[in-house]
Amino acid sequence: MGTRGREIVGGEVDKVIELLQKAYADEWLAYYQYWIGAKVVKGPMKDAVMTELMEHAADELRHADMVAERIIQLGDNPALHPKQWYDMTNCGYDAPEDADVRPLLDQNIKGEQCAITVYNDLLKFTRDRDPVTYNMVLQILQDEVEHEEDLQSLMEDLGEFLNR
Ligand code: FE
Ligand code: FE
Ligand code: MG
Repeated sequence: MGTRGREIVGGEVDKVIELLQKAYADEWLAYYQYWIGAKVVKGPMKDAVMTELMEHAADELRHADMVAERIIQLGDNPALHPKQWYDMTNCGYDAPEDADVRPLLDQNIKGEQCAITVYNDLLKFTRDRDPVTYNMVLQILQDEVEHEEDLQSLMEDLGEFLNR
């Protein structure tokens, strides 16, 4: 923990940590949802979908790393037990039980929309309180917005592919 770095966050530091712990759980669950989705996906344009899902999985894991580093800077440990992810998550985990490309993409689009809402709220909460967390959250939010658009445009391409 950096003492002065923690001090500048002021009175709401515990709340910032709590919100980051929840986001951390979301990132691991999102990582796994993409990773397993890329393994099991079936149907038209499967290779393009698999490639996109694997890229997003790597981004979510990188986000988990960024959030973990910030939690440590603020003086706490990221969740030490994976079972805590389920208790803390905002966006949950949607198992790809129907591995056809469309239902699978739909699940991941919903996940991104949840992530966008969560990070936008965290951005507002940290704006005048914690510039370091704010800057990190802004970077992650930019990625989540890109993820949503990537998946929605894949879904459009898929519609055109099937209508040919
Ligand atoms: Fe993420
Ligand atoms: Fe994402
Ligand atoms: Mg992408």
